[in-house]
Amino acid sequence: MKKFIAILAVLALVVACFAACGGKTDKDAANVSGSDATPAEVVENPAAADTLVMGTNAAFPPYEFVAEDGSYAGIDVEIATAIAEKLGMTLEIKDMEFDSLIPAVSGGSIDMAMAGMTVTPERQEEVNFSETYATGVQAIIVKEGSEIASADDLEGKKIGVQAGTTGDIYATDDYGQENVSQYSNGSLAVQALLNDQVDCVIIDNEPAKSFVAANEGLQILDTEYTVEDYAAAFAKGNTELLEQFNAALAELKADGTIDAIIAKYIPAE
Ligand code: GLN
Repeated sequence: MKKFIAILAVLALVVACFAACGGKTDKDAANVSGSDATPAEVVENPAAADTLVMGTNAAFPPYEFVAEDGSYAGIDVEIATAIAEKLGMTLEIKDMEFDSLIPAVSGGSIDMAMAGMTVTPERQEEVNFSETYATGVQAIIVKEGSEIASADDLEGKKIGVQAGTTGDIYATDDYGQENVSQYSNGSLAVQALLNDQVDCVIIDNEPAKSFVAANEGLQILDTEYTVEDYAAAFAKGNTELLEQFNAALAELKADGTIDAIIAKYIPAE
């Protein structure tokens, strides 16, 4: 009999627990779709998590690329790793097309984007940028022996760009959309130049140097199309993570880590 009562008591406990758990689940489910889950709350969650999810486009050496062993490498990858370490977080990298990065940041599927991304007023309307950590210059790559000698010769020429980049925006504004071919990353744009599908590629100078070094018969024109600042992008609501990132970045600038990472990939000329 005692045993029977004990079993009943255990059963009662189990039932009570199920009821309680069930109730909690219903409430949580309601919260997710309910009115008290504001977008700001949703995007703030990653800051509290142990994982820092960085979106990038890993075809932009030396800032981000896939190394021979299949891992992600480059300036942005190493800076993000150092920052994650300072924040006690593990870095996770999501490789995507460049023009998907800002929507992914705003939508909360990544915590931040680091992709040699230039700070522009238009992008600042959609995301918050960190302090800047590097400078880029838009460069023009042509085939050796090309008749294009400077930006003045681009009128009416076929220009290859990476979709959604500042190079794309400038080329479209200055030379007309009909003259601009968009590719989903820098390597594909350079491939199109090698195959004579375009007459030149407008891309940031350091990736330009990497592509020219890796392919015969290309050269960079001696012209600085524009000079830009690179920074990491965060969702508008996620100022907590942005502040943590900036604080860690400031420490890494002060102790020479950022300079050392950049010098490792861009040796002084
Ligand atoms: N700096 C350029 C931009 O922000 C290109 C970046 C990239 O292609 N990864 O638009």
